[in-house]
Amino acid sequence: MTRIDLKNLTLPELTALLAGLGKEKFRARQIIKWVYARGITSFAEMTDLSKTFREELDQRFFISDWQPEAIETSVDGTRKYLFRLTDGESVETVRIPMESGKDTLCISTQVGCAMQCRFCLTGCFGLTRNLQTAEIVNQVCAALKDAPVHNIVLMGMGEPLHNLDNVIKALEILYLDDGCGFGARRVTLSTSGLVPQMYELARRIKVGLAVSLNATSDEQRDELMPINKKYPLAELMKACREIPLEPRQRITFEYILIGGVNDSLQDARRLLKLLHGIRAKVNLIPFNEHQGSNYKRPQAAAVEEFQRYLLDRDIVAIRRASKGQDISAACGQLKGRLDQDPLKRQTQEKVR
Ligand code: SAH
Ligand code: SF4
Repeated sequence: MTRIDLKNLTLPELTALLAGLGKEKFRARQIIKWVYARGITSFAEMTDLSKTFREELDQRFFISDWQPEAIETSVDGTRKYLFRLTDGESVETVRIPMESGKDTLCISTQVGCAMQCRFCLTGCFGLTRNLQTAEIVNQVCAALKDAPVHNIVLMGMGEPLHNLDNVIKALEILYLDDGCGFGARRVTLSTSGLVPQMYELARRIKVGLAVSLNATSDEQRDELMPINKKYPLAELMKACREIPLEPRQRITFEYILIGGVNDSLQDARRLLKLLHGIRAKVNLIPFNEHQGSNYKRPQAAAVEEFQRYLLDRDIVAIRRASKGQDISAACGQLKGRLDQDPLKRQTQEKVR
């Protein structure tokens, strides 16, 4: 019998499987507590369960447990964890220290990404595969063994809404109050704008929403983010208006400033118009240069002016400091396969 990884199971799923073995409902919570609150990874250590029950569990389940294959630490304190997956692929997770002392963990949802945004190194690779629920959850469990984590952002490699079911299951697990206990307000999911999945996500689970906007006209956004051809700006912004928000919740709009491409005052004006009537905040991210792209970072003065334009019109616009540049851990620089360059990878995918 192939054993099931316990970290792939939500509470209702585990409860149902245990019910099939004739076990009481509360047993699932007991096990969840051992695994996520106490970090126990063998059934033998679950001392409030009978020996025969522990043996039964051992026959049917296992508990995956990750150690980073490598950890790189930046001069600014950012840490990048590299994890090797059972099929030889790899995934990266980034810990970003905040001034408050409360770290944010940036996790990945896919190996590679299918969206092909022109400015993104992950996008250069194409999609290798989705991460399973356990592979998303384990990034958090492994980081927690290193140090506490206050916020989680789904902004690493991959488009989370392109792996919706596994992402929702992972959030359900991370939210369990007997387990890791992350409240929905401490978790933010970032999407390139898969409109139907945005509605579905909002129907199925609570989570902070960030939208990677990056452009203010369809012409420009088609060029930077091919997904815009499928879900153009009008549809995307309509979804942002229609999706219900919690009382003090805002949608975060990420806007990468690329030198000479989308960083003019005209862009700022169009951005202001697009956001009209939306409870929004804007994250301005200066483009991080990398070997997969010819785009350039913006001039400091252009960033300053862009931000000032928005602030003067009462738009909350934060300039996100790009941390972890020296270890390639900054936004859009994760690539997962440290052993291959993007161009080689693309030709390989064509061959397949
Ligand atoms: N796929 C999701 C989440 C991962 S990308 C999304 O696109 O939202 C996380 C963020 O990194 C996005 O806002 C993206 O626009 C940004 N990003 C990608 N490449 C970048 C680069 N080279 N410099 C700065 N930000 C980048
Ligand atoms: Fe994928 Fe996001 Fe990169 Fe676009 S920016 S290629 S959606 S990871």
